Amino acid sequence: MAIQWFPGHMNKAKKDVAERLRGIDVVIEMLDARLPASSANPMIAQLARRKPTLKILNKQDLADPSVTQQWLSWYRSQPGTQAIGLDAGERAPSQKLIAACRELVPNRGGLDKPLRVMICGIPNVGKSTLINTMTGRKIAKTGNMPGVTKGEQRIMLADDFELFDTPGMLWPKIEVEEGGYNLAASGAVGRNAMDEEEVVLELLKYLLQHYAAELSARYKLDDISGMQDWQVLEMIGKKRGAVLGGGRINIQKASEIVLTEFRDGLIGRLTLERPDEWAVWKKRAKEL
Ligand code: GDP
Repeated sequence: MAIQWFPGHMNKAKKDVAERLRGIDVVIEMLDARLPASSANPMIAQLARRKPTLKILNKQDLADPSVTQQWLSWYRSQPGTQAIGLDAGERAPSQKLIAACRELVPNRGGLDKPLRVMICGIPNVGKSTLINTMTGRKIAKTGNMPGVTKGEQRIMLADDFELFDTPGMLWPKIEVEEGGYNLAASGAVGRNAMDEEEVVLELLKYLLQHYAAELSARYKLDDISGMQDWQVLEMIGKKRGAVLGGGRINIQKASEIVLTEFRDGLIGRLTLERPDEWAVWKKRAKEL
């Protein structure tokens, strides 16, 4: 798989995050609700092992609501973990976030024991959007506080609630093949990082299995049960006029159509992985 993972850069990020975590009470990990497990950064899980953790399943407006519920229950069943769903349309995201964090560490709070949380997530998961929604103009650059890097972003969400942004960038790490495809389908890894057609075929294979009705409806396809992913891609190309000379289907164009429409949520509210599936994929990846 052609995704770059630079060990040097990762080690630096790891050190920075580990250092920052020292004074932190709760780690918030932002995930993409369409691919919660694939969009996690394994380093965060490892570093935050002993910290109370809040998982935010973001972009829930794009995800299958019933599968989001499955993931929320799954995370909540883990020790020291709370989970909430969010999207950019949420009216009071900070209230929801603060409440979930306070539940995790009820003994902190009040001006003498402010709750300190750090928010992290892979690029494109929606961190800036959320921070901007929550702050408006409340962003404060940190000064000379012990254990806090100068210039780091600290956001006061309440008098006794401080939110810190993660230092540096945290890239996803692809440990499970299906997860790599899901990241690529969501747009979290660059367009050129993977073969687009391959990504689309994997996406279609999954959609055929779980969301055939949505797929048929979007592309006005007749009975697609029992069809192969590539056959469906060709049919979509034909329907949308992605045709080359001699009537051949322009597969690249058809792939682009499917990917763009998936990312924009036009095919429907779709989630590409479920907790039980993820467990199977992960087990298989370990055995390889
Ligand atoms: P960051 O890299 O994590 O800071 O991600 P951004 O905040 O820049 O968001 C990446 C993209 O996702 C942008 O195009 C956002 O408009 C979009 N986005 C963020 N949050 C949501 C959400 O809840 N729902 C949807 N549909 N899109 C979102």
